[in-house]
Order: sequence, then structure tokens, then C-alpha cells
Amino acid sequence: MLLPGPIQKLIGALERLPGVGPKSASRLAFYLLRAPDEVSEELSQALSGLKGKVTFCEECFNITEAGRPRCEICDDPGRDAGVLCVVEEALDVLAVERVGAYTGKYHVLHGVLSPIEGVGPGDIRVKPLVDRIAKGGVREVILATNPSMEGDATALYLQQQLRAFGVQITRLARGLPVGGDLEYADQNTILRALTGRSEMG
Ligand SMILES: [Zn+2]
Repeated sequence: MLLPGPIQKLIGALERLPGVGPKSASRLAFYLLRAPDEVSEELSQALSGLKGKVTFCEECFNITEAGRPRCEICDDPGRDAGVLCVVEEALDVLAVERVGAYTGKYHVLHGVLSPIEGVGPGDIRVKPLVDRIAKGGVREVILATNPSMEGDATALYLQQQLRAFGVQITRLARGLPVGGDLEYADQNTILRALTGRSEMG
């Protein structure tokens, strides 16, 4: 490597980000090198202490600003606490919110079950979901995990865990591309999947 250490270090750090290969990592690093100082300063400020400034909502595990126990959605008295939309990641909350048609609340699992990758029920937020349903007050649980093998398996597992509580359990309609990601689906697709959701048999 003929590159100076600091640049190598930056490229190495960027390469570890999802979706960034060695080529784009180098491109980004050289862009930052050439760009006005403000660009890299703003980026470094945004990154520094990021984890300390953000926390998870203690009710739904959505991301929220540190010092705030509950997220905006959980704190909103206008949202229907009787309907829970269960998603894999906090980004999926944003995707469903962008559609603007959902008025219930959420539960963020922070992952999916994946025996291959060694992810079991104890590794994602399954227990807090079961506890939430056990407390009562929820009529419907919409299982909005991605239409992938892991997403389907997770939905099936959750259905089995929640069945005993007598809540209605629905799954998003198959408008979503199989193997696709909720996060990247367009608003119409999500809206169709949401309105066409069906009870899990
Ligand atoms: Zn919340």
C-alpha cells in the first residue's frame, strides 16, 4: 500500500460499513480529502458520541434521543395502542411511517431469527413483545418482518408465541417482493401490503 496511514485507516473504517466495498471506500476517502474542511468536520461531529446521543425507546425499542425514555410514536396519545406493527429494524418504522396510513404503534425486534447465523429468540426483542401482549390492551399484532426466509420464520415463531393471548395476528400481504426489504419498498407497495394484510392461519 502506497497510501499514507491516515487514509488507509479511513478506507479501512469505511469498508466495514454495509454496502461499501473497497472501491467505494477509497472513493469516499478521497472525496473527503478533497472536499472543504466543513464536510469532514460535520461528518466527524455527527459520528462522535453517536451511540451516547441515541437510545432505544423502552416501550417499542425504536430509536430515540438519549434522555428520552419513550419515542415520539409511543408518546403520541393520538396513536392506537391496540394495534402493534412488529418490524425487524428501526428503519422499517420509518418506511411504514412514510406511507402515512398507519395509526397504531410499533415493536422493533432488532433482527430476525437465523439459525444459520446463530440468532435465536433470546438475541432479538421477542420477550419484551410477549410481555407487552401479556399485559393486555393489544387487539391486533401485524407481523411486518421482511418477506424473506428469516422474516417468515420469525413471523411464524412469533405467531406461535402470541397465539395463546387471543390477539388477532396478521401478516403483511404479499405485495412486497419476496426476499425484499421493507426499508427499500416504495410507499404504494407498503400501503398495499398493509391494507391487504391477512390473518395468519
Ligand atoms: Zn416507542
